Amino acid sequence: MTNVQQTAAGPQTVLEARGIRKSFGGLEVLKGVDVTLARGEVVGLIGPSGSGKSTLIRCLNMMEKPTGGSVIFRGHKIGKSFRDRDGTTGIGTLRRHVGMVFQHFNLFPHKTVLQNVTEGPIVVCNTPRAEAEERAMALLAEVGLAEKRNAYPSHLSGGQKQRVAIARALAMQPEVLLLDEVTSALDPELVGEVLNVIRRLADDGMTMAIVTHEMAFAADVADRILFLDEGRIVVEGKPDETIRNPTNERLASFVSRFN
Ligand code: ADP
Ligand code: MG
Repeated sequence: MTNVQQTAAGPQTVLEARGIRKSFGGLEVLKGVDVTLARGEVVGLIGPSGSGKSTLIRCLNMMEKPTGGSVIFRGHKIGKSFRDRDGTTGIGTLRRHVGMVFQHFNLFPHKTVLQNVTEGPIVVCNTPRAEAEERAMALLAEVGLAEKRNAYPSHLSGGQKQRVAIARALAMQPEVLLLDEVTSALDPELVGEVLNVIRRLADDGMTMAIVTHEMAFAADVADRILFLDEGRIVVEGKPDETIRNPTNERLASFVSRFN
């Protein structure tokens, strides 16, 4: 019943938001936003503070319930209930496959690095511990933190915490990764190590939506840029047509602040 024709947005579309609206009380923060993410695509979401970037990216995995519009994952419109019988329309199914990394890491403080990464697979997916640990160690090696497996988050630098958070999200084997200003809380000298991890994910074909104020990075890594302003996507296009050569006045003014 809730099956949506894939043809509308192309057969490669993994995640789609159509006409998303979100209000907090009387404040309408998103005013009808469309986003499509094709498999393997990296979309950069930029815009002024308060324009609705975090709200939009949270709506994409229903951490925030839109007040209008729909989220469509693998061709199925996501419904209102958490569970579903066939793994298609439930919010739980969406979250299971659409991972998220936040500005403030949100690691479990009383768990080690390894336990942080294995928690989701063991608890949510019933993955046997040995298998979860083996995969977690491979991911920690990929983000350069294998030797920190028994450390607690409080003993890590911000950059290391964020790399653990990325490994933790990847441990769920997501089809899409949503990143919300994951370098904004970091000391400048730690930003690069996190961006390098994200760049490698992009090169490996991970489908991602990335909210960032790192304009050069966004222009470099994203296939497509969305400029959100006052709850609407004002400009959408390739990095060359947006960040590097903005013609829209508001976008030009926004981008110039980062030069
Ligand atoms: P951005 O990430 O682009 O800075 P946000 O999506 O965080 O923007 O916020 C957009 C607007 O929505 C802001 O005015 C913010 O104050 C408001 N807002 C966000 N979350 C909530 C909430 N939970 N309750 C009320 N207002 C919120
Ligand atoms: Mg934000």
